[in-house]
Amino acid sequence: MDVKKTWHRFLGRPTFDKIFYVPFWDCPYMCDFCCVDSLPGKPPLVPNDGEELLFQLVDLLHQKQGNHIELHLYGGEPMLRKPYAEQLAKRIKKTPNISKLFLYTTLLSNSPQGIYDILGDERLSIIVNPSTVNEKVKKRMEAFEKVAILYQNQVFFPTGRGAVGMEGNQANIWQRILPIGLPGRSCFAASSGMLVNGQQHSVHLCCLPQSPIIGTFSDSPQQILSNYETALKTIPQQINREARQKKCVHPCQICNDKTGYQSTAGSGCNSYTIAALKEWEKL
Ligand code: SF4
Ligand code: SF4
Repeated sequence: MDVKKTWHRFLGRPTFDKIFYVPFWDCPYMCDFCCVDSLPGKPPLVPNDGEELLFQLVDLLHQKQGNHIELHLYGGEPMLRKPYAEQLAKRIKKTPNISKLFLYTTLLSNSPQGIYDILGDERLSIIVNPSTVNEKVKKRMEAFEKVAILYQNQVFFPTGRGAVGMEGNQANIWQRILPIGLPGRSCFAASSGMLVNGQQHSVHLCCLPQSPIIGTFSDSPQQILSNYETALKTIPQQINREARQKKCVHPCQICNDKTGYQSTAGSGCNSYTIAALKEWEKL
């Protein structure tokens, strides 16, 4: 256990040690709780719109905060575009500021063997969706036994198809009885990481696309990082406060409602309405 990181998380202090990257949102598996509301669609052949900004942000964050950065790649099902995921892995291998790639996948789509061959045991973790596990997935997990684990998170995100009032909502008992503001029932943006959202050309405060926008692909990485550091000082507390006032199951409910998030898989592109940072400052 990393004591420093655990302590930072407990106190709600930013960890500045990870960045999430989503090149596309498409996914055929339709989990009813899908927190990002992914729908079947056809992702772009070369979904690299956010890649340059991503690597610039990694380098800047490393320079400013001194941490090596975990890169979390999710979607959607990132392995729908295996050649792109492998191209990205080659670039990660040449980037010493990235400690590890965390690949979120069902293992039902294309195999990540090529990525494993590039990054090896030390620099790859494969995080498998437990709800889509079948015999084929179990076999694949055995083949990647050194790096593959089932996704485990005590926090249920009441967003996307898991939003309050939707069939996929599975909020647990802790999310109903813990006071808002304690770990498990508070905005976790400080211990998450910003999200580079390739399809919508936006950068968000936490790993979820429902979170406030801290920049767009037209902004400089310096400006985005500055917005990120500033936002982390106030926005999580503001969201927790509003969640308390509205008696929400979890503060992410505020973000989900505020963004009017709703994906529509039209011609391979999920889209939704999203709120920029200045809107959130009015909270
Ligand atoms: S596999 Fe993941 S991205 Fe796809 S629908 Fe399920 S939860 Fe959503
Ligand atoms: S409350 Fe909003 S900003 Fe905080 S973790 Fe949830 S989605 Fe992210």
